[in-house]
Amino acid sequence: MSKIAFFSTQVYDRKLFENASDKHDFEFFETRLRAQTINLTNGYDGVCVFVNDKLEEDVIRGISENGVKLIALRCAGFNNVDLKAANNYNVRVLRVPAYSPEAVAEHALALMMTLARKTHKAYNRVRDSNFSLVNLTGFTIHGKTIGIIGTGQIGQAFCRILSGMGAKIVAYDKYPSDAMKKLDVDYKDMDEVLHESDIISLHCPLTPETHHIINEKNLGKMKKGAMLINTSRGKLVDTLSVIDALKSEHLGSLAIDVYEEEEKLFFRDLSEKIIRDDQISRLMIFPNVLITAHQGFFTQESLNQIKETTIKNFDDFENGNESKNEVSCELIKDC
Ligand code: NAD
Repeated sequence: MSKIAFFSTQVYDRKLFENASDKHDFEFFETRLRAQTINLTNGYDGVCVFVNDKLEEDVIRGISENGVKLIALRCAGFNNVDLKAANNYNVRVLRVPAYSPEAVAEHALALMMTLARKTHKAYNRVRDSNFSLVNLTGFTIHGKTIGIIGTGQIGQAFCRILSGMGAKIVAYDKYPSDAMKKLDVDYKDMDEVLHESDIISLHCPLTPETHHIINEKNLGKMKKGAMLINTSRGKLVDTLSVIDALKSEHLGSLAIDVYEEEEKLFFRDLSEKIIRDDQISRLMIFPNVLITAHQGFFTQESLNQIKETTIKNFDDFENGNESKNEVSCELIKDC
């Protein structure tokens, strides 16, 4: 029976996993796993973590000294794990590579449609008995050009949805997909995608190469008035440059489900607290910015998939089985 310590546990995680397996022993911690909380891992075989737990070299060394031999991610992205250190300390890293990519794609769609039709403003107006349409003019998606950066599972799911809306889809990916080409997705280089798109949606992973892929220079290459959507990882976007582009009105609108400094904010109720992050505070008051707190994945279907795959990962770890969910150094270039 493996002993697993869960970190960053929310009420819904506990409910999901509490009785999910009688083969393993679970303990749930609300705190994030980081240097200050290494001591909690003493005596556990594995840790089960989420997007904002920080598994840098010192943390991996510390948990390994405490006997931990498994890092199980309850997510697909693994940018928060130092894979080289995990390899050096013989700690296996297993993830949930896909859990309803449609869930995240549909959330990107929801963000896009909200900004395009200003339903976030209409909702509040009507609640205040204001039935005026003044300043609610939106735009039609049909016939627009939508640029997808990264056409993996989520990017492809988004392309499939968009193709039904009569949008022209252009995309940039280092490894173009034949299935997407058949769907009339037009692969171009990054600059062309930036230049031609009315809406850009980011679906590539965060790697050293994609860090701040949306920066001042690339924002300058975008069409004036374009919309930017980021449901992937916060650090793909240089927030300060995006704020400048919104202030100069070069960037028409922004929807983010992820934020560069989200680990200090997201997944918590801070409604009675003073927000000390001036960049998110600035973003929150733009009328053409929509922020959700990393909820793209958050559907019942995804949660069920995360549970099933994570339990299978624990079983494979306990039995010493190979796993297609293993994350190894080969998956990233500079490891
Ligand atoms: P995936 O691995 O299936 O696809 C990623 C794609 O990006 C691949 O096709 C890859 O070739 C491409 N890519 C890699 N480097 C690139 C680059 N420099 N430029 C352009 N494309 C590049 O991943 P996925 O399942 O589609 O997930 C994408 C990302 O979405 C994840 O890395 C994660 O960060 C994020 N995500 C967010 C949520 C959420 O709740 N908001 C949930 C799940 C995943």
